[in-house]
Amino acid sequence: MSAQVCPSFIGGEWRRASKLPTTPVFNPSTGEVIAECPAGNAAVVDEAVQAASAAFPAWRDTPPVERARVFFRYRQLLEANFDKICQSISREHGKTLVEARGSLFRGVENVEYACGIPSLLMGDTLENIARGVDCETVLQPLGVCVGITPFNFPAMVPMWMFPTALACGNTFVLKPSEKVPLTAVLIIELLEQAGLPKGVLNIVHGGREVVDALLTHQKVKAVSFVGSTPIARYIYETGTKHGKRVQSNGGAKNYIVVMPDADVPRTVEALSTAAFGCAGERCMAGSTAITVGAAAERLLPTLVDAARAIKVGRTDIPAPQPDMGPVITAQHRERVLGLLASGEKEGAKLLCDGRSVKVSDAPKGFYLGATIVDQVQNNMTIAKEEVFGPVLNVMRMDDLEHAIEQANQSAFGNGTAIFTSSGKAAREFKHRVNVGMVGINVGVPATMAMFPFTGWNESFFGDLHIQGREGVQFYTQQKVVSTRWFGEGVGDVWKK
Ligand code: NAD
Repeated sequence: MSAQVCPSFIGGEWRRASKLPTTPVFNPSTGEVIAECPAGNAAVVDEAVQAASAAFPAWRDTPPVERARVFFRYRQLLEANFDKICQSISREHGKTLVEARGSLFRGVENVEYACGIPSLLMGDTLENIARGVDCETVLQPLGVCVGITPFNFPAMVPMWMFPTALACGNTFVLKPSEKVPLTAVLIIELLEQAGLPKGVLNIVHGGREVVDALLTHQKVKAVSFVGSTPIARYIYETGTKHGKRVQSNGGAKNYIVVMPDADVPRTVEALSTAAFGCAGERCMAGSTAITVGAAAERLLPTLVDAARAIKVGRTDIPAPQPDMGPVITAQHRERVLGLLASGEKEGAKLLCDGRSVKVSDAPKGFYLGATIVDQVQNNMTIAKEEVFGPVLNVMRMDDLEHAIEQANQSAFGNGTAIFTSSGKAAREFKHRVNVGMVGINVGVPATMAMFPFTGWNESFFGDLHIQGREGVQFYTQQKVVSTRWFGEGVGDVWKK
């Protein structure tokens, strides 16, 4: 039996059959093909954008309180279907169920944020800017907005985008990752059930051809992107060249500085989660530990024990659940193995080697065990490239000064953290590090829905970030209205 074709959603109709070529969607736990994702093309994109454009006038004029009610109902449906969505995430992505739950909560928080849109859309007013003249700001939606999302958070990253965009009164075309399109379909089916009118949100599938058609479509006003840095840069350059507002989030290489006075058990726990959680496939993964002075001797033996104890296994069955699941594809596994080989060749030492991990009930899954690479030097490939796997590099520095210098040499600037019991060291670090999201004794300082997700450097291209008030600003344009009413006599209070 051939695998199901993942449906597209255009103008309120689910299109379950496709004559277009498809790409396989894997269950990374077993290596099986579980669905086929249609490639899409410019004609499909045009239909989706036209549907979103046709739905815009009525949705824009729907009162914000009514738009918010759709998200209150959506919130309830997400809660009622929470386990089903998490199973879908675990099955097509490979996150453990615990990780899937955590990520879905983060997505749901964005829906909760969107429920507050009537307050968030309030503008400012100043009475009497001149005699008899009042002034107000009004936030209005842009029109058709687009979301292009990566494989690593099948529900959360789309939910960073469409709840705020729609609540602001825009309509939307979502292009999920072709590697994990099934969860996106599931969460949008629930949004339809919550009462979203036809055409307000549409889903198209595919890769570059579809993305290019979205970036250049005359009726698309804004593009939100999350993915790797080379594509993020391309999206920003192409989108802005075609007159779109663009927020484009790229890859990362995040440093965690461990000071000699850090609390070892808690640091090990946080570092291990930061590096190996979600099999390291997180833009906020702590991918390099910088140990300062005596921290290496205090930390590394316990950290190696913790990494060795991480149980790897399939995530697509409810029990038993492992501590860590597979990586996304066989090809991605090979890439990570290649980076580890290059690290060894360039002189790094593997303190904990997860390359030969076996999962007996799923021999064809895409597994890698937790791996710690010591003595990493700045010029090594593994120090420069985003690995995006369960690999923690260790670099040793003499003092905080050099640790900050090292972190600031990175081309990226997504997340970073320091573990210390010194307020002075923490203050110095947070003040001087050139990174957008900083944790102090917090390993994964990913921001919640009410705060912007503030990548810096090559981790972000654009001006207004995703989430929080910046998210609302991104999806709206301001109008400033100055008002004067003519007429002599009654109510003419400003006249001398
Ligand atoms: P990716 O860049 O390969 O793909 C992201 C999206 O771009 C997908 O929808 C894909 O179909 C599309 N795409 C891929 N190649 C394209 C091309 N040549 N032209 C146009 N579109 C193309 O990223 P991925 O592998 O799916 O996700 C992992 C990456 O995402 C990592 O680098 C990770 O750090 C990054 N990420 C960043 C953040 C953040 O907030 N900064 C969050 C999550 C993931």
